[in-house]
Amino acid sequence: MSLAASLIPRDLMPIYEKVLQDQRLDAQDGIKLLESHDLFAIGTIANEARKRRVGDYVYFNNNAHINYSNICALSKVCKFCAFGKQNGLDPEGYTYTIEQMVEKAKAYARLGVTEFHMVGGLHPDMPFAYYTDFLSAIKQAVPQAHLKCFTAVEIDFFTRKFKMPAEEVLLRLREAGHGSMTGGGAEMFHPEVHNVLCRGKMSGERYLEIHRIAHNLGVRTTCTMLYGHIEKPYHVVDHMLKIRALQDETGGESAFIPLAFHPTNTDLAHLPGPTGHYDLKIIAVARLLLDNIKAIKSYWVMISPRIAQVSLAFGANDIDGTVREEKIYHFAGATTPMLQEQNDLLRLIREAGRIPAERDTLYNILRVHDQAAV
Ligand code: SF4
Repeated sequence: MSLAASLIPRDLMPIYEKVLQDQRLDAQDGIKLLESHDLFAIGTIANEARKRRVGDYVYFNNNAHINYSNICALSKVCKFCAFGKQNGLDPEGYTYTIEQMVEKAKAYARLGVTEFHMVGGLHPDMPFAYYTDFLSAIKQAVPQAHLKCFTAVEIDFFTRKFKMPAEEVLLRLREAGHGSMTGGGAEMFHPEVHNVLCRGKMSGERYLEIHRIAHNLGVRTTCTMLYGHIEKPYHVVDHMLKIRALQDETGGESAFIPLAFHPTNTDLAHLPGPTGHYDLKIIAVARLLLDNIKAIKSYWVMISPRIAQVSLAFGANDIDGTVREEKIYHFAGATTPMLQEQNDLLRLIREAGRIPAERDTLYNILRVHDQAAV
C-alpha cells in the first residue's frame, strides 16, 4: 500500500479508487466527502486528482479589478452582499466616470497588467452606452489588455433594462472591446438556499442559460459558488454537478472559483462565515467533482494568502492574480490586503513545491517561472 493510500480511511477508499481509475464521482461521493471530517484524507484524494488531471503548474496573472459602480437595484435583495448601495440614498455609493476608469486602466497598464476584471452593481439609471463607451475607451487606451467584464447577473439585467436578447447584448459588448465574462452571481443554485440569500434575484437556471449563450458565441466565462452561509452538503453537490453538466455540454468554463461568504456589514451578519477547514474541503471537493474544469482557483482575497497557499495541496491550481483594488469583499469586512505583488505570489507557489505559471485570461501560459530566482 502506498503512503497516500495508507492515509485514506475505509469509507473514503472507494472514492480514492475511482480517482486512481479516472472514474467520474457522483453526488453520493460528493456528499460523503463533505460529511467527512478527515481533511487530510480528502486533501490527499484531491491532490491525487489534481496531479493526474492538470500537473504541477499553479496559475496566476497580473490583473487589476475595477468595480465601476456599487449602485445596485438589488441592494435590498441580496442579503449576503455589503457592496451594493441604493442610488442617491447611501453616502458610500459611487459610480466611476469613463475618464476615471481610463486613468486607472492606464496607471495599471504601466505596471504590466494584462487583464482588467470589471464588475459592478445593477445601476438603475446608466444607459447601455455607458458600458460600451467605457469598454471602448479602455480598449483604445490599453489595447493589449483583456477586458474580463460583467457577471451573468449584469448581462441578464442589461437584457431586461435595454430590451435586447442576451446574444445581442454580448455581441454589442464584444464590438466595444469586451473579451470574456466573470463568474460571479451564481451564489448557490438550489432554491432552498437561493430563496434565503437572494429571493427575487436571477435564478440558477438563468445563470446557466446566460453562460450557455455566451459559450455558444465563443465568449469564455468562469463560474463560482458562494459558500459558508446556510448550505448543506447536498446544496453544494447540486451546484457543482449543474456546473459540471454545463461544462460537459459547452466546455466554456475556464475556471471554478469558490467564493467564501463574508458576513460583516451584510443582512446575514449573525452567521459566522466559513472556517479554514471548510475552505479547504470545498476546494478539494471542487477538484474532485469538477473533473472537466482544469483550473480550480483559490481566491486569496477571500480566504487569505495563507489558506490559498495551503489549498494548493488540496486540489487548487490557480491562485488568482495581483488584484490591486478590490471593493466587493472589503465592503464585507475582508481584512486581506488588496494587492499581492508578483513576487509574493511566486513565493506562495514555490514554497508549496509547485511551479508558478503566469497566464493570460484564457489560460495561455505567458511565462513559466521555474525555480531560478526572479
Ligand atoms: S450581489 Fe450583485 S446584484 Fe446583489 S446587491 Fe450585490 S452588487 Fe447587487
